[in-house]
Amino acid sequence: MRIESTSTSTICEQRMAKANYVRVIVDRAIHRELDYSVPESLAERVGVGSRVRVPFREKSALATVVALPEQTEAKGIRPIEAVIGETPVLSEHLLELAKWIGTYYCCPIETVMRSMLPQVIRRAEVGWKKQLFVRPGRKIDNDELEKLRRRAPRQAELLDAISKLEAPVRAAELLRQTSLDNQTLRALVKRGLAELREEAVVRDPHADEQFIATSNLVLNEEQTRALKEITDALDSPENARPILLHGVTGSGKTEIYLQAIRTTLDRGRTAIVLVPEISLTPQTVERFKSRFADVPYAVAVLHSHLSEGERHDEWHKIHSGRARIVIGARSAIFAPLKNLGLIVVDEEHETTYKQEEAPRYHARDVAVVRAKIEKCAVVLGSATPSLESYHNAATGKYRLVVLTQRIDQKQMPLMRIVDLRQERRKEKKAAILSEKLSQAIADRLQKREQTILFLNRRGFSTSLLCSECGEARNCPNCSVALTFHRHPAVAGRLSCHLCGHTAAVPKKCPACGKDALIYYGFGTEKVESTVAQIFAKAVVRRMDADSMTRKEAYRETLRDFRTGKIDILVGTQMIAKGLHFPNVTLVGIINADLALHLPDFRAGERTFQLLTQVAGRAGRGETPGEVFVQTYTPFSPSIQFARHHDFAGYFQQELEFRERCDFPPFKHAILITVRSAHEGRAKLSAETLKRRLKDALPEEFILGDATTAPLEKLQGQFRFHILIRGEAIMRLSRLVRETLDKLPFPEDVTVTVDVDPYQLL
Ligand code: ADP
Ligand code: ZN
Repeated sequence: MRIESTSTSTICEQRMAKANYVRVIVDRAIHRELDYSVPESLAERVGVGSRVRVPFREKSALATVVALPEQTEAKGIRPIEAVIGETPVLSEHLLELAKWIGTYYCCPIETVMRSMLPQVIRRAEVGWKKQLFVRPGRKIDNDELEKLRRRAPRQAELLDAISKLEAPVRAAELLRQTSLDNQTLRALVKRGLAELREEAVVRDPHADEQFIATSNLVLNEEQTRALKEITDALDSPENARPILLHGVTGSGKTEIYLQAIRTTLDRGRTAIVLVPEISLTPQTVERFKSRFADVPYAVAVLHSHLSEGERHDEWHKIHSGRARIVIGARSAIFAPLKNLGLIVVDEEHETTYKQEEAPRYHARDVAVVRAKIEKCAVVLGSATPSLESYHNAATGKYRLVVLTQRIDQKQMPLMRIVDLRQERRKEKKAAILSEKLSQAIADRLQKREQTILFLNRRGFSTSLLCSECGEARNCPNCSVALTFHRHPAVAGRLSCHLCGHTAAVPKKCPACGKDALIYYGFGTEKVESTVAQIFAKAVVRRMDADSMTRKEAYRETLRDFRTGKIDILVGTQMIAKGLHFPNVTLVGIINADLALHLPDFRAGERTFQLLTQVAGRAGRGETPGEVFVQTYTPFSPSIQFARHHDFAGYFQQELEFRERCDFPPFKHAILITVRSAHEGRAKLSAETLKRRLKDALPEEFILGDATTAPLEKLQGQFRFHILIRGEAIMRLSRLVRETLDKLPFPEDVTVTVDVDPYQLL
């Protein structure tokens, strides 16, 4: 695709009043806004949301314009040096959103801007990809043509090809087609018989793919009702509440999104669809691109694997108004669409929507706020809604819409709980596969049906213990045991899953010197090798972060599984989400207890969601599915409720527990982590901070003690936690920020603030 060079400047609708002064936020954490004057020559090009270069201290810095004040009180005002790009990069709506994020998540607005604008746009280092295009030059008369034919036959041949062109063509393409060389082309240009011009082209990672247009399916009754709720919200966003769409896997949520987006486009508006990075597969993208194949370049895709150049182009495609639907992972919530009509957050319960570095925002919650600012509809979809969203629906803040049926009327899979305690009594030692699960696999192999085995733990053995002195081999940098891998990348070494440290396997226990080391616990590698041993004829593959280091490996394995080349797929959460395999009739959950015993108030919720999601993989085709859940705690509520597909029952009991303990969604939480390579200094800083907070916070907030974090040491740093809970989160955030700003911490102590934390280790 070629683009006209004027495209970006004509589409700008933003206020471009002639500015005398600008108020900016410099890309440095200085916590305040600065004023600059605007030279006459730049006055017409700068607006709110523009990126500018300004003199800052002794150097230049990049900055974002947040206001155009008429006057300024500032002393010694200096002029801005340059305006970057043709039009403002941030709309006033997005600026407002940035301010909200800064306040809510207790972080400097400069940091928010860093997430909001891709680096290529902020720094404006990468431009459009330029390519040479050929078009015909001056007319040639017959005499001259004859002469050319005799003296330079190849030039004449090329000229002939050029004269037949209907539109300018890439020089490289033309030369390839005619098998002629660049020298010939240059000679023609010199004679004025051809023209070469540089033009911008869009780098489109999907350029070679053809999308066959699909049309709307006829919706069933439940879907029709859900779609109407969304279109109502689209038409009167002022009165609309966010919609929580709770529908089991395969109940046709995506089809509803597609039709709602169509309506949005018909009304001349735009849409964002957020999906977890892991679900942003080629199939997902294809489903959207195919449905909107009639609208050229309608769909832009934003994910973390784009090259800088591709990201630049996708961003401008959106900013210029050419792309009208954006599909992407977390940060796509900041896509610079204008006239936004609808935001969809699919799999809204996914914790990957929470960013684990500053700004520590949750994309679902940001989506709800952006929708409010832009007055658009927002739909949160899930088969297993988060407790937060479910609670918001229960209290009437969100509107709950439920899809109870699978499209194909398929039964939910049958869940069988295998009590590992009994198995252990029988076998004396815990087997990886219980007898029942083993038999079920054998049965599927015979029927040529497929099996998925799920274990949320990588590696071969999860620790190396000394059976004499009991010492485990721990990571020197982190307070966790090293995992033993057989996998070639770490070839028979011990490795740390947190910092990547690896070590050779010692022959004797380094602590007591005895030859008594034993491997303990198991991960996906061991499951794979055990299963391959038991079922020697079956094709077994593993899918986890270790086996999927190549970018294509993921795609290849999924293809082989889909086409039936693989009988048994073993994997981590990589295989738990959103994949559709009609021939899978059995899912085995090797150990359902892994998440349950983490020191995290969401442990039960995560287990319930995981079991329900994994179970959703079974029996999507003609044959109903069966799920075996192996566990040592068969009567834990998360497992029992998941077994009966009883969402309401589960939410009820979990909400009671949360309320009793003052946990979210009843109270907000802020987790402060204080860390340092020096244990004493980290501890002292944490205790001092806790005292200051005690003075600063009113009684209504529940302030915890400064305690050693469950993960005491990470990457060589000792860690301490302070957990605060309360209802008035904005006020709490502000008080925390003020307290921190007043407190000088030693150089080597780092303090991070996580509002609504998901990572409590
Ligand atoms: P979900 O997003 O809830 O998992 P999907 O929208 O992917 O569900 O729907 C599951 C399957 O059912 C898809 O293959 C989809 O094409 C199909 N489907 C959805 N809605 C309908 C419908 N109204 N009629 C027929 N097939 C449908
Ligand atoms: Zn480590």
